[in-house]
Amino acid sequence: HPGIGAWPSTRRTRTPDKTALIFGDASYTYREFADAADRIAAVLATKGIGKGDAVAYIGENSPAFLQTLFGVAQLGAVFVPINTRLAPPEVAHVLTDSGARAVIYDPELHDKIAPGVESGGIPHVIPTGDGDDDEPGLRRLMTRPTGGHVDVPVAPEDPAAILYTSGTTGRAKGAVLTHANLTWVSLNCVIDYDLVSSDVALLISPLFHAAALGMGALPLVLKGGTIVLEKGFDPGRALALVQQHRITMLSGVPTTYQLMADHPDWAGTDLSSLNRLTCGGSAVPTRILDVYEERGLSFTQGYGMTETSPGHTALPADRTRDKQGSVGLPHFFSAVRIADENGDVVPRGTVGEIEARGPNVFPGYLNLPDANEAAFTEDGWFRTGDMGYLDADGYLFIADRLKDMVISGGENIYPAEVENHLFDIEGVTGAAVIGVPDPRWGEVPWAILTVQEGVEVTTDQVRAHLDGRIARYKIPKNVVVVDDLPRTASGKVRKADLRARFGAGAE
Ligand code: ATP
Ligand code: MG
Repeated sequence: HPGIGAWPSTRRTRTPDKTALIFGDASYTYREFADAADRIAAVLATKGIGKGDAVAYIGENSPAFLQTLFGVAQLGAVFVPINTRLAPPEVAHVLTDSGARAVIYDPELHDKIAPGVESGGIPHVIPTGDGDDDEPGLRRLMTRPTGGHVDVPVAPEDPAAILYTSGTTGRAKGAVLTHANLTWVSLNCVIDYDLVSSDVALLISPLFHAAALGMGALPLVLKGGTIVLEKGFDPGRALALVQQHRITMLSGVPTTYQLMADHPDWAGTDLSSLNRLTCGGSAVPTRILDVYEERGLSFTQGYGMTETSPGHTALPADRTRDKQGSVGLPHFFSAVRIADENGDVVPRGTVGEIEARGPNVFPGYLNLPDANEAAFTEDGWFRTGDMGYLDADGYLFIADRLKDMVISGGENIYPAEVENHLFDIEGVTGAAVIGVPDPRWGEVPWAILTVQEGVEVTTDQVRAHLDGRIARYKIPKNVVVVDDLPRTASGKVRKADLRARFGAGAE
């Protein structure tokens, strides 16, 4: 079975002179890209890394990141990308939990990895770049002669990567993604995003998240397209690159698109090459849809999670308007069903837990037998922990996370719905609705807000704004303004922390 490590070298044979990767002024053909992956595989092999060994990587987006991904896969080893925004103890957890045998790191992040390297006793620690004589870096090691191409055979169910979830609902969990998972998510994207080999994709989101890997880099290499990689996201640079490289495909979260449209260069940039904008993480606000539509551009919105590699559903661009708010249909080779709290499948239109199945769905978390027991149904569907419903045509609509749902007097409240209305209030910059214990109703909703400096927002004002817009029981009983909302490294609000803080109804 050809694992994902075989993909660059397959392209080296088929389209050797095609540009695989552009990064700043540097560019790599598929032949050069595959050669670099071969060299990284050789470097790791000389250190004794082989099949099943975990190799961690921490750094911003760069060619070395992608080359390492494929080099590791060629050895049948397991790639463990680490979120650069994690704190040192969180990095240490990932290094220990994954059992990393080697870590490749950007020297700028040395202080982040040092405690974990020490406590985990990681045998091989390699900086990217040249390093020095004591500790030669990856770039220097790659210049040494190699024995040529290695491609250790793997089975479809062998792990290719361990990606840690965002840690929004608790400690980040290591999701094991197999070669089959990454192959099928890529095929799903090729099919449902209509990828072609002439595609030029601008990759601006971090490669340590599942989305940029499973729905960006991998499908592009599978199809033989060109990746324009950016270290990070800068709206002005992104606009300039779209025009310069005639970018056809762009992926991001709603904020990405918002910031580009708000940039002074927006109106003067030639966007005519773009024909595929993909967006996930949360629903695209109507305002953004309008602004892009004026330029003849529409979105394909998607839903997924680390555990589904991550693309699981997509809303085709031509349904954005009539299915507004939906995250679309399951991908071609994936499936979705909705179940009640007893695990019984509910009729269309009824809200329940979203369950996922398909070859892109992970086999389980690393080192968490109890979580795995709870995560899958008896017949093998993954419980996503998200609530939602399917409409009459089978389009999925997301309500909110199960763990964040508030139950007040027997009525379910989905915080996301209330938060959407809170964002309409002048001066509100952040909003989180949580359930606070209440002797009469079991729980009542509270709104925790951040507001622009100098703006005052009172409970009465908020309640008056929501009155008539949503049902009475959904209107927060209390409004608390805080300086900052606790957030994960990927920017999602940690509601568990808010519940711990306000759970006793204090303040
Ligand atoms: P953890 O599992 O550690 O608590 P997390 O669930 O935030 O963290 P990710 O896998 O990065 O980690 O995020 C997946 C989640 O993001 C989904 O389960 C869902 O709750 C949310 N999500 C993803 N896409 C969308 C979307 N289009 N609309 C609304 N929510 C979305
Ligand atoms: Mg999750």
